Amino acid sequence: MAQDKLRMIPLGGLGEFGMNCMALRWQDEIIVIDAGLMFPEEELLGVDIVVPDISYLVENRSKVKAIVLTHGHEDHIGGLPWILSELNVPVYGTEFTLAYVEGKLEEHRLLDDADLIEMIPGSRFSLGPFSILPIRVTHSLVDCVALAITTPVGVILHTGDFKIDLSPPDNKPFDLHAFAELGKHGVLALLQDSTNVDRPGYTPSERAVRPRLDEIFSRTKKKLFFSCFSSSIHRLRLAMELAAAHGRKVAIIGRSLDNSTEIAQDLGYLDVPKGLIINPGQIRDIAPEKMMIMISGTQGEPMSALSRAAVNNHKFAHIDAGDTVLLSSRVIPGNEKSIYRMIDHLERRDAKVIHDDGTQGLIHVSGHASQEELRLLINLVRPKFFIPVHGDYRHLKRHAELAGAMGIVEKVLLLEDGDVLELDQKSAVKNGKVTTGRICIDSGGSIDVVEDLVIRDRKHISEDGIMLPIIAINKRTGKVETTPEIVMRGFAIQEDKLIAEARQVVQRTLDSSSAEEKVDYGVIKEKIRNDLKRYIQKSTSRRPLIMPVILEI
Ligand SMILES: [Zn+2]
Ligand SMILES: [Zn+2]
Repeated sequence: MAQDKLRMIPLGGLGEFGMNCMALRWQDEIIVIDAGLMFPEEELLGVDIVVPDISYLVENRSKVKAIVLTHGHEDHIGGLPWILSELNVPVYGTEFTLAYVEGKLEEHRLLDDADLIEMIPGSRFSLGPFSILPIRVTHSLVDCVALAITTPVGVILHTGDFKIDLSPPDNKPFDLHAFAELGKHGVLALLQDSTNVDRPGYTPSERAVRPRLDEIFSRTKKKLFFSCFSSSIHRLRLAMELAAAHGRKVAIIGRSLDNSTEIAQDLGYLDVPKGLIINPGQIRDIAPEKMMIMISGTQGEPMSALSRAAVNNHKFAHIDAGDTVLLSSRVIPGNEKSIYRMIDHLERRDAKVIHDDGTQGLIHVSGHASQEELRLLINLVRPKFFIPVHGDYRHLKRHAELAGAMGIVEKVLLLEDGDVLELDQKSAVKNGKVTTGRICIDSGGSIDVVEDLVIRDRKHISEDGIMLPIIAINKRTGKVETTPEIVMRGFAIQEDKLIAEARQVVQRTLDSSSAEEKVDYGVIKEKIRNDLKRYIQKSTSRRPLIMPVILEI
């Protein structure tokens, strides 16, 4: 193998959205950029998260020096617990990113052994043969950086996720100067975020949603439910500012929202006036027109606070006729069904639902750069080689075409997960492949790998069995017509007793669910699956594949 070449090896995120992870290797030293996860598609029943196969890193264990993080989104840090439990190396990130990482590692009881090192935008540091300069970029999250990595063959510039926001609500704009400076001195390769390559023009600033949100605040007569991604710190900040300006108190409902707002307050990204935030338990004491409720669940996730409120099954969040529910987020492809199901429930309660369907004005903006921003950065940086990252294959390809058409870049390279790219001062050539893939993880236990996709179900069933709770529901009334049946295979332990008790578990779940929940099969299936999973893990410490079946009658 060539000793005088830099090797760049994407392990995830090139050819899919999620689980971003890339290795950079010079001789016997490797650094890893990002360690993300991917949320499973619907067909991956029973799997909680998906992370990249890191066989390559494990095989080269002693060479891996550190993981360097661009920002705190799950698709960049979510795989850390899994990767660190295999490979405990130092992790570098900005202050805010590390605050998210800490919470995550604590949850998995990995924090005590972790070596987390803060990096500051603009301050260079060294890792073996690599000298790394984090550069401030803007995105939907705060404290995000690009990484300019000086290697023995030249500078590799990885943008991370970005858009060029020159007036972000936290007043920490995109550092165009740093990019221009790098361009002046020469950049060997630019790796750029491909997410929005299909969008012409410029992505609006995070601040651009303010006027329309302000209008909605003005017009809302009763309670205002505000939902956005918990990591959309800029959006949370705007919503809180508007609540204060319009004389509304704020209650925060949802664990991830609580966590995010707490970190954002601690680190100075949210300046909350005293007395603005109240406990969810106090909502009923406040007049509806004086209340904003920040609630999690923009994607209609069946167990989220908003989904539960939509079917009138949340202790503190009650949706009443005339309330407004504002979803300040996009519809992530694949989630349409659950989102519209939730919206239907909300409409049935006579709430006014405002979501980003194109007719509501600017209530959400993307965090990723559009075409003109991508071009602008390529122009500033003038790299010798260009490599699109972060996207499905078609995005990478479109992005490669966009960059190629500019006539600035010497060579555009289309890489996919596992490709090994060898670089020196003059050339960049694909040479070989390493093992990559997706590892499915059931995060119910600590870190249980559910094995490779293809063999997962088969293996799962042969080891831990399969359980099918069968429930007959009257679609019209939401009534459960008979006691639930349980079909079980492959347990080889006192099945009779287990079945009898499992039936009771399902019955209890059904009894405690409203008629609305029962006709919402997504919700009821997820509730049954969760309750059964908990019961079976407790009583047998097994993890069968649980597939609730609803018979509609
Ligand atoms: Zn991101
Ligand atoms: Zn991302």
